[in-house]
Amino acid sequence: MSAEKSYDAVVVGAGHNGLVAAFYLARAGLLPLVVERRDIVGGACVTEEFAPGYRASTGAYVLSMLRPAVRADMRLAERGVATDDAGPSLNMFPDGTRLMLDDDPVVAAKELSRLSPADSKALPIVEEQLIRLAELLVPTFDLTAPNLDRIRRRDWTTLRTLFRNGRKARDELAEAAFLMTTSVDQYLAERFESPYVRAALGWHAINDSLAGPSTGGTAFVLLHDHVSHDPGGGMRRWGFVRGGMGRVTEAMAEAAREEGAEIRTGVGVSKILSRKTAEGVVVTGVLLSDGTQVDVPLVLSGADPKHTFGTLVEADHLTDEFRARVAAIRCVGTSMKINLALDKLPRASGVATVGDGVQAYHRGIVEIGPTLDVLDLQQAQARRGIPAEGAHIEMCFPTVHDPGLAPDARHIATVDVNSQPYELAEGSWDDIKEKVADRVLSELEGYFPGISASVLHRQVLSPLDLERLFGMTGGHALHGDMAPDQLFFNRPVRGYADYRTPIAGLYLCGAGTHPGGGVSGANGRNAAREVLRDMPRKSKRRAR
Ligand SMILES: Cc1cc2nc3c(=O)[nH]c(=O)nc-3n(C[C@H](O)[C@H](O)[C@H](O)COP(=O)(O)OP(=O)(O)OC[C@H]3O[C@@H](n4cnc5c(N)ncnc54)[C@H](O)[C@@H]3O)c2cc1C
Repeated sequence: MSAEKSYDAVVVGAGHNGLVAAFYLARAGLLPLVVERRDIVGGACVTEEFAPGYRASTGAYVLSMLRPAVRADMRLAERGVATDDAGPSLNMFPDGTRLMLDDDPVVAAKELSRLSPADSKALPIVEEQLIRLAELLVPTFDLTAPNLDRIRRRDWTTLRTLFRNGRKARDELAEAAFLMTTSVDQYLAERFESPYVRAALGWHAINDSLAGPSTGGTAFVLLHDHVSHDPGGGMRRWGFVRGGMGRVTEAMAEAAREEGAEIRTGVGVSKILSRKTAEGVVVTGVLLSDGTQVDVPLVLSGADPKHTFGTLVEADHLTDEFRARVAAIRCVGTSMKINLALDKLPRASGVATVGDGVQAYHRGIVEIGPTLDVLDLQQAQARRGIPAEGAHIEMCFPTVHDPGLAPDARHIATVDVNSQPYELAEGSWDDIKEKVADRVLSELEGYFPGISASVLHRQVLSPLDLERLFGMTGGHALHGDMAPDQLFFNRPVRGYADYRTPIAGLYLCGAGTHPGGGVSGANGRNAAREVLRDMPRKSKRRAR
């Protein structure tokens, strides 16, 4: 064991939240060490070369959730992080129905009138209501969620915000309560008559979980996932980052380093060390995969809760009740990611072509999938461990926004396939993933004729590969389902929503905490604030 420099804190994982947490700790005068098992920083927010000359965002591919304070404090724009707004989303159905949904509700409503005049009228009203409710919810993302079993004085800020927002929304409280608890199927069925409109609006509510659209709690995701996090931003305002999502985390790492944080890549944390004292269990440091022991009084884990408490922490330093709660977190991923290198942009069938260049849908997100009743059956099948055929697919062409991601005049497409369960009833993902990818490509052929012949290279990432690549338990993109029973007071588990853990000095700072997954940086920022709150004032700005 080698002697180690003295750090104030270790951050487990250089995912974007770990980097954000390290930045704020360093800015407050601490010396944090970020330890990342991969050779690159960024976690699931990275750009990687998947074939010679072709680079893709292998995890997250669009940015919309980044909190304004994080963007400003880390000076991400000055560091070159720039986004290009996504174009309209093209929704494609197996029976040939096509529906182009623009960001602008007026344009979208006009398009909807082809399918249903009633739905066309309903859309702007529903969207306005969702935006209003989301704008009340979003400020809570920057606050620490209280533990309802022991509310402290400082929790009143959060509770007051909730109360104030509740009063602002008092005319809509009944609607908000319904939205928080009902299924996406029921919520949309009350508002829209066309099964295509319901599907186009409801596919996302599944959100990498095993829930079906008929599962209670899924409607809430409409609020969380579909509404822009910029006030007044409207529906689905996604941005493609120039240079890929990795630009965001490279800039975050630069900001953290500039403040004095150290980042070590290519070495994992094998154990979070702790000891029992008369007052309870306290953290004492970490053991790295190269055998180095780093003694520190503070550890922040950006790894998911199941990995943190199931693998890294000494099992007998946790109570049975706590371990049972963590073990029961729903964290089974259902997405498969396929990155394609293409010799040209494929043309969508059944959509009028304008000129011979880039079409509007190439700039946006293409959604392909079945109606919600079929999706419900597919998700039921996924719960039984059977990957669904004809599943919901989300496809983008990032080279339309940044040609630099591929060699001259070539393109990449990122393809997310849902209802592909991490846990299989039979066989292993390593054996079936290429066959599943072949099937997905032949399905895509029906929507983009000739796409298979255009594929020069492909990278297939099964849920098992996502687990291996990003170190996410169950390959779950969000470190656990985003359902009301696993959010806010309940995330990661009841009693520990405030980033603290049963071990003194050990905090969580990743997507498994409030406000959940997505590239927001809120979790890392909030966690760092709680760490600093717990520190005696004089030790925050120690001389170095
Ligand atoms: C395929 C896919 C598509 C997605 N699409 C989007 C999208 O378009 N937009 C969006 O906003 N979000 C998207 N997400 C979700 C988003 O990427 C994640 O929720 C977010 O990146 C989580 O960030 P994090 O920092 O909390 O955790 P992570 O990014 O998971 O980072 C955790 C880090 O900890 C490291 N680590 C784990 N264990 C250890 C250990 N023992 N020692 C050292 N290091 C360790 C990991 O290697 C990783 O780098 C997607 C995710 C995936 C997988």
